[in-house]
Amino acid sequence: MTVYDLHCHSTASDGVLAPRQLVERAAAMGVGVLALTDHDELRGLEEADAAAAEFGIRLVHGVEISVTWGGHTVHIVGLRVDPDDPVLSSGLARNRDGRAERARRMADELARMGIHGALEGAYRFAGNPALIGRTHFARFLVERGVVKDVKTVFRKYLVKGKPGYAPHEWAGLAEALLWIRAAGGFSVLAHPGRYQMGREKMRLLLSEFKHLGGDAIEVVTGSHTPDQVPVFAGLAEEFDLAASVGSDFHAPGEGGRELGRLESLPARCRPLWSQW
Ligand code: AMP
Ligand code: MN
Ligand code: MN
Ligand code: MN
Repeated sequence: MTVYDLHCHSTASDGVLAPRQLVERAAAMGVGVLALTDHDELRGLEEADAAAAEFGIRLVHGVEISVTWGGHTVHIVGLRVDPDDPVLSSGLARNRDGRAERARRMADELARMGIHGALEGAYRFAGNPALIGRTHFARFLVERGVVKDVKTVFRKYLVKGKPGYAPHEWAGLAEALLWIRAAGGFSVLAHPGRYQMGREKMRLLLSEFKHLGGDAIEVVTGSHTPDQVPVFAGLAEEFDLAASVGSDFHAPGEGGRELGRLESLPARCRPLWSQW
């Protein structure tokens, strides 16, 4: 049975492994088909392609787009996208453009809490400065000894209502799906169980996503607890969406899921790759 892992990050966004190291690790973990899905960025794909040929695994060209929908930040993974498509590239560039200014606001917020030097500190962790994001601030806060680990950062800092949070307007849902479609890709609602929204709002999101041409829900992800898997399998079935799987791996030893270490999809799910 081929192991699919259709969601992970490299140093092109907020992962700690370079694309080549990431692909090498995936191969060692027994992954047969890997999608590199950096946040709002495609630049890691070329190196990953070469590594996939070297280590004998199949690489899917992916991206994870930050979206603002109904006052929430949601993530849409695009799979099998053409990295040279101008519509997708210019859309992602626009999403990236907001990050530097947002990072300054985050650092200002932290400074008001007495935590100084966060901007420079976060940039030191950013393999790709254009993609400066909360994970880089989280690693800085751990290094500074403010918080014991990255997971705890996202409970006590950098999230709505906590120090260091800066609201931000990302792409719209319709736009993101349009960019992915323009680039010939499939769109996946990433880790739906992570969004702090009630059941009715989730259903509204899923019906809009489906209506706009969305393809799949990430049913199995490193972000879901075991009891969330059947819930989202049921919603995928109800909204006639396919199902995807992905570790959302960022770094060894940071507490997230390891590459390829994923439960099987429930039998009722239609795997997205059955259309490929
Ligand atoms: P950004 O795109 O800058 O808002 O950063 C989002 C990233 O922060 C996600 O892709 C994760 O890597 C990280 N993140 C967000 N929430 C959590 C969490 N609860 N635990 C660990 N990492 C998180
Ligand atoms: Mn991330
Ligand atoms: Mn995400
Ligand atoms: Mn991710």
